Amino acid sequence: MIPPQDDRPVAPLLTARGIAKTYAVRKSSPVTVLRGIDVDVLPGEMVSIVGPSGSGKSTLLYCLAGLERADIGEIALGGTRIDSLSQSRLAKLRRDRLGFVFQSYNLIPSLNAGENVALPARLARHRAPDVEGALAAVGLTGHAGKRPGELSGGQQQRVAIARVLAARPDLVFADEPTGALDTTTGAQVLDLLRAHAADGRGVVVVTHDLDAAARADRTLVLRDGAVVTELVSPTAAGILDVLHATTSGAAA
Ligand code: ADP
Ligand code: MG
Repeated sequence: MIPPQDDRPVAPLLTARGIAKTYAVRKSSPVTVLRGIDVDVLPGEMVSIVGPSGSGKSTLLYCLAGLERADIGEIALGGTRIDSLSQSRLAKLRRDRLGFVFQSYNLIPSLNAGENVALPARLARHRAPDVEGALAAVGLTGHAGKRPGELSGGQQQRVAIARVLAARPDLVFADEPTGALDTTTGAQVLDLLRAHAADGRGVVVVTHDLDAAARADRTLVLRDGAVVTELVSPTAAGILDVLHATTSGAAA
C-alpha cells in the first residue's frame, strides 16, 4: 500500500552533525567556539538561534552557510555535503542556493540600493528579480537610486534583506537582521523571512531579540558553543526562562 503523503519523511534542506570549531589565535591558548552542534532545517521552517554574546552564534551561522570551515562535523545542504566541497564548487552552491544577511550589511558602496538588490540574482543567472517589489516589501519604495552612504543604518539593513529575498534562495542565513531596526520594522522583516520559509524554503536567523526569535518554528539556545536547549513553537517568555536558567545571570 502506498503510504499517505504526510507520513513520508521530509528531506531536510540542511543537516549539520557534530560541528566543532577552534580558533588558534595563539597556539598556547586555542579558543574552542563550537563543541559538537547538530542542526536540521526542514523545508518550510524558520529556525532561530539565541544565546549570550560570544556563545558562537555567528560562527555557527558562518559554518552552516559554508562561509567558514568547521574543523569537525558534517554539513549537507539539500543532500550535498559542503564540508568536503572544493572552494569553487562551494562558491557556486552558495551563489545559486544560499542567501546571507550580514550583521554589517556588506552592501556594495558604489552601487545604488536597486543595483545592490539585483546583484545576487544576476550573478546566479536567476530570472530578473523584482527589485522595486523587494524594496517596497521592506518599506523602501523610492529609494532604489540611493547609494548605501545616503541611507541610514536601518535602511541599509533593509536593503541587505531585500537583496537576499529578491534572489529567492533555498536557504537564508541572517545574523541579527533586525539589529538596526525599530520594533515595528523588525517585526515586518521577521514576517518577510517567515513568508520566505513558508514556501518550502528555509531560514536560519541569529538574534538577541526574543520576540524575533519566537517567530521561528524552533529556537536553538546556545551556550559556550553547545546547544543547551531546543524549543519547538517557542515563546519569548519561554526562551527568556531558558536563557536565565543556563546563563547564571549573564546578559542575553
Ligand atoms: P556570538 O555571535 O554568539 O556573539 P561569535 O561566534 O561571534 O559569538 O564568537 C564566539 C567566540 O569566538 C568569541 O569568543 C569570539 O571572540 C571568538 N571568535 C570568533 N571569530 C573569531 C576569529 N576569527 N578568530 C578568533 N576568535 C574568534
Ligand atoms: Mg554574533
